[in-house]
Amino acid sequence: MNFDMTKPIPDMQPWSAGFWEGTREGKLLIQTCGDCGSKIFYPRKYCPECWSGNLGWMQASGNAKIFSFSTAYSMVEPKFMDELPYTVAYVDLDEGIRMMTRIVECDPADIKIGMEVEVTFFQRGDFYLPYFRPAKK
Ligand SMILES: [Zn+2]
Repeated sequence: MNFDMTKPIPDMQPWSAGFWEGTREGKLLIQTCGDCGSKIFYPRKYCPECWSGNLGWMQASGNAKIFSFSTAYSMVEPKFMDELPYTVAYVDLDEGIRMMTRIVECDPADIKIGMEVEVTFFQRGDFYLPYFRPAKK
């Protein structure tokens, strides 16, 4: 049996290219609406609040708190077995955005809801994935 062990990379669209370019420079960017001021995540072609196409970017602080998380210890897709155990989480950015991510650089047993975390970028192929680690005080 032959398994495809290639890990997936983001499916980049013209409207998300700015986000991924930001990650290459170590910046976590949030899409913003130039007409109604909404902060938008994930990146879209039109503002989900007012349907404007007048969209831009702001740089997030990279600071967030864990809203919820789940740690996988076994039985994941074969291509991710080498990363076990790993934690998938929702984090709330200081800017009011909730995003799905991974929590890294800490023992999964130490992860708590409400824990302060900061963004860090992990390279996969040509992409830099925004993960989060415990905040350095
Ligand atoms: Zn808008």
